[in-house]
Amino acid sequence: MKEDKIKVIQQYLSDKELYSAAIDGDAGSGTMKATESFLESQDDELNDGWKRWEQDRKLVACIQLICKLQEIETGVIDGRWGQQTDYAYESYLYWLKNNEMPPLFRDKEEAVEETTRDVAAEPAKRTSSPTIIGSAPQWPAAGESALRRYYGQPGSNLTYLRVPYAHSLAWDTSTKVSRIKCHEKVHDSLDRVLNRVLDHYGEEKIKELHLDLFGGCFNKRKMRGGSRWSLHSWAIALDYDPSHNQLRWGRDKAAFARPEYEQWWKLWEEEGWSSLGRKKNYDWMHIQATK
Ligand SMILES: [Zn+2]
Repeated sequence: MKEDKIKVIQQYLSDKELYSAAIDGDAGSGTMKATESFLESQDDELNDGWKRWEQDRKLVACIQLICKLQEIETGVIDGRWGQQTDYAYESYLYWLKNNEMPPLFRDKEEAVEETTRDVAAEPAKRTSSPTIIGSAPQWPAAGESALRRYYGQPGSNLTYLRVPYAHSLAWDTSTKVSRIKCHEKVHDSLDRVLNRVLDHYGEEKIKELHLDLFGGCFNKRKMRGGSRWSLHSWAIALDYDPSHNQLRWGRDKAAFARPEYEQWWKLWEEEGWSSLGRKKNYDWMHIQATK
């Protein structure tokens, strides 16, 4: 097994106080001993023969269990590294880095329920041009106390925005999204941004650029440690086209880093929204209403 994966295991076992030596990516006897006591503690999840498995298979089973305990779908804990384990592991890495699950991991039913209760309805007809405002809204900083002061409790003060052009769920494009559940305080600003996107690009170009591929907004989820919340918990962050803007992709790979999206970002930034892609060069799918 590769060093980076062994380090993930060592870190986990160290957090669980089963392992106290260096996080060095070397599966020596200390690491294997800790792995085995961990597997022992999860014995119910494993078939009887696991103690006779070779070292690598135990390590894979350890990763599968770590993912499973994080409520990531892993399938059978069999110590075999297949596609499902690979996807679960990627999701776990995303969670380690962001304290939230990647958008594609989210429960689809939940997202459908939240966004498309009126699937049959047409997108809102524009009655007038979006209001031109003098200055951008003053969003709070991204820290939890500032967020609570400004937005209230996670999951509170929610409303629906009827989107000015049709959106589709990114992971199931046959599901149309005609409204987005968002925080009351971002509603008008979001409406202005999307109307300007429509004005600037038009429906055809929007489709071509995947600006209609919606990856989620409201998703009330605790962050690591049980004390912090994901920004999606306040419904003040949106994800678009996640498969072409994957978390760890930088400018060289992420679609939204390309020049044809410059105006798209300007439209958000004029309203004060922040992009982790533009600021930190990762998670290009994600936009949030914070400073
Ligand atoms: Zn996001």
